[in-house]
Amino acid sequence: MGCFPCAGNSDKRLDRDKTQTNNRNRRDDRAQSTAEKLKSGPHKCENPKAVDQSSAAKELDVRKEEVSENGGTEGFKARPFTFAQLVAATENFKSEYFLGEGGFGKVHRGKLVDTGQIVAIKQLDRNGMQGIREFVVEVVTLSLADHPNLVKLIGYCAEGEQRLLVYEFMPFGSLEDHLHGILGRRPNMRRLDWNTRMKIAAGAAKGLEYLHDKMKPPVIYRDLKCSNILLDEGFLPKLSDFGLAKVGPVGDKTHVSTRVMGTYGYCAPDYAMTGQLTFKSDIYSFGVVLLEIITGRKAIDETRSGTEQNLVAWARPLFKDRKKFPQMADPDLEGQYPMRGLYQALAIAAMCVQEHPNMRPLIADIVTALNYLASQTYDPLNPSPQTSRRAASSKKDCEEGPNASNGPRGIKPED
Ligand code: AMP
Repeated sequence: MGCFPCAGNSDKRLDRDKTQTNNRNRRDDRAQSTAEKLKSGPHKCENPKAVDQSSAAKELDVRKEEVSENGGTEGFKARPFTFAQLVAATENFKSEYFLGEGGFGKVHRGKLVDTGQIVAIKQLDRNGMQGIREFVVEVVTLSLADHPNLVKLIGYCAEGEQRLLVYEFMPFGSLEDHLHGILGRRPNMRRLDWNTRMKIAAGAAKGLEYLHDKMKPPVIYRDLKCSNILLDEGFLPKLSDFGLAKVGPVGDKTHVSTRVMGTYGYCAPDYAMTGQLTFKSDIYSFGVVLLEIITGRKAIDETRSGTEQNLVAWARPLFKDRKKFPQMADPDLEGQYPMRGLYQALAIAAMCVQEHPNMRPLIADIVTALNYLASQTYDPLNPSPQTSRRAASSKKDCEEGPNASNGPRGIKPED
């Protein structure tokens, strides 16, 4: 089984424009050239020239028109801010309000002076068309979206060369912070338990389902990863960072042809090799996220030995032997998970990361399956005989595997 080359770390996005490859023989070249690109940082700009406000505004209008042809812009809700308003909200981007930094730029917590609302303010730190395009796509996509599992865009600022985005504040940070970062290690922040992990997985799937099946026109997210899943109080997950989102294929088209962008470790191999973006590209990325949620491992982890660096490459042989499933559970769960739930969750992940996009499930089916898993609350103090780790690790359960009774229908592990 082939796997996507794992050059670079999982936080870095890839742009394969100049590293077109379409067969496995060229894999080494691609790994090398993409690794070189990664050294220059995520989202290397195509055009380092600054873009003035008028071109950004023009593109925003073009995008709005593009969307309105398909779905209308009546719901366009984002509010314009002046730069001065955002300087005031963040006390001039005070370092103590710094929340984090992603591919787009720095994020600060702020308080809007007029409404008192606490917000997160993201400031584009790069010039050039690519940054502007992402800014515009983010504003248009999120302005038209309305779902509890998508982060709300409150407004934006496009003044002079400044580009900023204003979001609802997500107090629990990102899923990445909890699984792999400092939040998961803080004494006052508990490690994510099994029930919370399933709730996060189900919520993220619902956000993706909204983009794929409910939005008009439907949207391919293209950058699903743990650092783009933000958590509200109560660990309600919301997808964020829509800069790479693309309007999906319409009519009888099956894909949109585009240069490859996304993040190492999460990018579907078919999309990476052909540049043909489909809804199933997102499903692959979702599978990687689900694997991270279950295993606590990173999509790409360069601190691990060769074969274990790429999560999917590590997991694939284990998917074939159900007796090895318990080895895949995050050690931080300390054995506190339902064995049957583990089988079922791994079965879903296995289907999502299949190499052939047609074999991957539709997001609606994933939502059904994960809703079921999230509804099966696991109580470590009182595990039911049906779901307890000890009971389910019996030979019988190993033979029944993830498709045993009471499980989500239509979910089968890769054989
Ligand atoms: P991003 O550029 O979206 O990857 O954001 C970088 C980091 O800033 C994230 O990992 C979060 O820790 C933080 N962040 C981004 N958006 C928000 C938000 N709406 N609320 C709270 N923190 C955020």
